[in-house]
Amino acid sequence: MKFSDIPGLQKTKALLSNAINNKHIPHAQLFAGAPGCLALPMALAWSTYLHCTRRTDDACGTCPACVKSLKYIHPDTHFAFPAPSPKSGEEEKLRAENLKAWRNFLLEQPFDMPDDWTTFLGSEDKQLNISREDSRQIIRALALKPFESAYKVMIIWCPERMHPSAANALLKILEEPPAHTYFILVSYAADALLPTILSRTQHVHIPLLSADELKAFLLQKHPETNPDEVVRLADGNLNLALRLLEQDAENPHQMLATWLRSCYKKDFSRLVQMADDFHNQDRLSQHLFIRYALTIMRESLIAVSGAGTLHRIGSRELEFVNNFSGILPVPAFEKAVHLLNQADYYLERNGSAKMIFMSLSVQLADIMQNPGHA
Ligand SMILES: [Zn+2]
Repeated sequence: MKFSDIPGLQKTKALLSNAINNKHIPHAQLFAGAPGCLALPMALAWSTYLHCTRRTDDACGTCPACVKSLKYIHPDTHFAFPAPSPKSGEEEKLRAENLKAWRNFLLEQPFDMPDDWTTFLGSEDKQLNISREDSRQIIRALALKPFESAYKVMIIWCPERMHPSAANALLKILEEPPAHTYFILVSYAADALLPTILSRTQHVHIPLLSADELKAFLLQKHPETNPDEVVRLADGNLNLALRLLEQDAENPHQMLATWLRSCYKKDFSRLVQMADDFHNQDRLSQHLFIRYALTIMRESLIAVSGAGTLHRIGSRELEFVNNFSGILPVPAFEKAVHLLNQADYYLERNGSAKMIFMSLSVQLADIMQNPGHA
């Protein structure tokens, strides 16, 4: 991965490459942002740039260091990432398999998220984490001098999924980092990290893509499509946008209409059934549904508060919003938006989809029955 392989984000790239060129490199950085931000590709591009021997405003892509970095086999770039726990006696074998799978994952699906990695490994039924043994490997790897580069890089993906003993080992090493070693922690849930880890890392915020950046990239990849609808639904999340384009995701409109009507009528047997259906969807569809509901609620809020014209939704949605916005006051929509954001947050942190959906439905039904109390 080079900086130029990542769409947009010019300011972030300039900030990072300038720090390297001016030799003002913090020994530990946290690349963090919302789910769907390109923090991992940025960390990969950063290490390619650092090791490159002929860099300009980007890595050259052809020097021996770049050739290895681009295959994710540079001996001075190390990775720690969540993985299934091995059975005793099979640690070495599983570690080698995981590392091979990790490299393939980066090569094939470089913009993907932790859920995609779980699917890639076929480990949906397992909780993946960074184990205490992984942290021992980190320490062992960093005890050695760099092999080929002047520096070593340790990229830790999803540090919030570290086993507590691994996190403690990491803390120690962040306090007294080995010479010529740079850490990059990559997180989409930085608020779940230990404050002591946060305080020892320099925070680099990785923003989501702007609508224009996302659209330009999608058009370049899929010139035959009209990506406007996808750009709107994905809301800066490139991973989500690519999946929407490629898998022609089911339109969530019908489900949303049924859901809101059932909440309004307090039809709890229907809502329980819908919670089951929701639970059985994959994580992408669940997110998509919540995002879609958020879009509709925000547009309804705009409509009911008279704050502006509706321009982000199609005619079918517009009709629905106009009907729906007649029945609720502004604070009720504000509360609904808050609840949906909260549901998205819990989903992102692996909460039970069924519980989240049911709790959301009950609260929404309550708001609709007593809009004055919202
Ligand atoms: Zn190079």
